[in-house]
Amino acid sequence: MRIQFIAALGAASLAAAAGLVMPTSATGASVDTQHLVASHSPENAGQWMSYGRDYSEQRYSPLKQITADNVSQLGLAWYADLAERGGSYETTPVVVDGRIYVTAPWSKVYAFDAKTGKPLWKYDPKVPGEWAVNLCCGIVNRGVAVWKDKVIWGTLDGRLIAVNAKTGKKVWEVQATDRTKMQSITGAPRIADGRIFIGEAGSEFHQRGYLAAYDAENGKELWRWWAVPGDPSKPFEQPELEWAAKTWHGEWWKTGGGGTPWDAITYDPVTDLVFVGTGNGAPWPAEIRSPGGGDNLFTSSIVALEAKTGKYRWHYQATPQDSFDFDNTQQLVTADLVIDGEKKHVVMQAPKNGVFYVLEAATGKVLKAHLYVPTANWLTGFDANYRPILNPEANYGKIGKGFHVVPSAGGAHSWHPMAFNPNTGLMYIPTNYSSFPLVAEAGAKMGNQLLSINVAKRPQDPPPKLEGAGSYLLAWDPVNMKEVWKQPQGTSRSGVMTTAGNLVFQGSPPHSFNAYRADTGERVWTTDTQANIVGGSASYMVDGVQYIAVVAAGQAGFGGGGYWAPNYARLLVYKLGGKAELPPAVPYTPPPLNPPPEFGDEQLIVRGQKKYNEHCATCHGNDGRVSSIFPDLRYAGPLHSAEAFKAIVIDGALQQNGMVSFRKVLTPEDAEAIRAYVVRLAHQAKNAPPGPFGPGRGPGAAAPAPAPGAATPPASPSAPHQ
Ligand code: CA
Repeated sequence: MRIQFIAALGAASLAAAAGLVMPTSATGASVDTQHLVASHSPENAGQWMSYGRDYSEQRYSPLKQITADNVSQLGLAWYADLAERGGSYETTPVVVDGRIYVTAPWSKVYAFDAKTGKPLWKYDPKVPGEWAVNLCCGIVNRGVAVWKDKVIWGTLDGRLIAVNAKTGKKVWEVQATDRTKMQSITGAPRIADGRIFIGEAGSEFHQRGYLAAYDAENGKELWRWWAVPGDPSKPFEQPELEWAAKTWHGEWWKTGGGGTPWDAITYDPVTDLVFVGTGNGAPWPAEIRSPGGGDNLFTSSIVALEAKTGKYRWHYQATPQDSFDFDNTQQLVTADLVIDGEKKHVVMQAPKNGVFYVLEAATGKVLKAHLYVPTANWLTGFDANYRPILNPEANYGKIGKGFHVVPSAGGAHSWHPMAFNPNTGLMYIPTNYSSFPLVAEAGAKMGNQLLSINVAKRPQDPPPKLEGAGSYLLAWDPVNMKEVWKQPQGTSRSGVMTTAGNLVFQGSPPHSFNAYRADTGERVWTTDTQANIVGGSASYMVDGVQYIAVVAAGQAGFGGGGYWAPNYARLLVYKLGGKAELPPAVPYTPPPLNPPPEFGDEQLIVRGQKKYNEHCATCHGNDGRVSSIFPDLRYAGPLHSAEAFKAIVIDGALQQNGMVSFRKVLTPEDAEAIRAYVVRLAHQAKNAPPGPFGPGRGPGAAAPAPAPGAATPPASPSAPHQ
């Protein structure tokens, strides 16, 4: 037996060395720990078994039928229209045993035959429409987990659902969050040894973050790890929370504290640890959240837990005393790197705060930390232990004059997945370099995150002038901590995937999908997808043919895909010599804007903007622009009537259509202020120069005017310690 095993292993290694990939993914390799560990073996090379492909989260496919030299022949193999149209598709396809699974808005899941595109099943968990008020950042889901014969995912209303992978029939369902609270699940679960790991989202609504493990067979909770301490007068759930509580002041437990681990979860079979990235503290300004200072552990940190028990092993806090929404929830990638002549098993992260980290996986020791954007102004450098030295000027909660933070609260890199190619040794990061205005409001209520940040006010100082601002795809050398190449990406970011064919794939706004040489960054292929891509792509093989899969969807207000085809969502699958064609794109012409005359004084407009951003923006988009599957209010007829507007917003006149009453959180006067603000936005859009897809619809058409005055470059650390 032993000899046979070694012989089999030898054959696999030989095939890999010779560049031969002989997967037969349609034959039933399935997914368990063994397959996920051996994800590059011939049996598994053709699968994309988990959100980040395998345990490493590298998003590197060992397939090399499609190469930088022949990718120009890549064409559409098949496509499938997804019934849940529009909205934001943050999903990465997962492909196992010849079936491809994608998630859609409202936590719906679709399964297709990966070779032919034939629909196999669809599951609608029937998330109630009013759950949208509990979401900070869109009606999104990033992906499923597959474990043996089950497909498992989380829903916006906090359930974990397991269905049979072949039939889509429900096997079990559990409530993984507290349904009475503003908690949700948007990330993809990860599974190791039959344990499902998932955390909740909701820091923006002051939730107390936790990661929990569930039994893949029945959904039973096995352990739960709390990211921040609760009421210190009660026993701490975990011993480390006792000393973590000493890093908090005030009565943080009454509002929750934050730290929700809403995306990054990595199981590492080498150390048997689970690495988790925790979210920002809540409310945002540390001064309000924890008066008197303190680091507020374990917000904005990387934490290592024992996979079997959930016991704390180590942590590194990337942003102590975070006041900038610097979630540390960006993907955690494991790899073996040679650093200073020594092979190290590491975990890498490029979080929102703009610093690239390389940590020793077993101990959490920081081996490298360096800015991966040109500048950042929330820190001035690092101390000898890689603790960031905070810029005192950035403490806007104390100073009260506001601050333009660099990178922005949206992150130098956020959930859009990055990819690591072990052949080039490079990390490919969907990067954004910009600033974000923050002003804390004196006497802000603690009950709602947004009340502590005054979105209607601008900092006293003008925004910093940033050379090279915008979004781009960055190829980053994690050993030498330096940029190798970059490609501009316009206004939005999208997930990245890399392959053994020396290729990097990424969508570009407003409606293209591109391939670059992994070593040089040269663009070697592009195709028109008719809509925007934000999620990650996957590569797989069925019957000896390599495919590339990605979802493109209408996404108005972000990069323009939605202006082109606002009600469009498709799974697109490519192969060499693919000849399928999309139906012709239908250019979208919005109806003419016909707002009533502007009314109200500045005070009313500012109040309207504040209330709009607190209660309306999640569904109807920032600054009135539609961001999802909800109406663009600037075009709404009821803007012409105070009575009609109030009847909808306060009295719930459109309840049947999913527009719930906001009586609990808004007064009739608030509704009128919102109407005045949206009318102002409609006039701004009407008077804006026509964009490529219609008048007043282009990105920025309704954006607030920037603060006047000459811009000055921010104080920034040009080269922190490596
Ligand atoms: Ca956040």
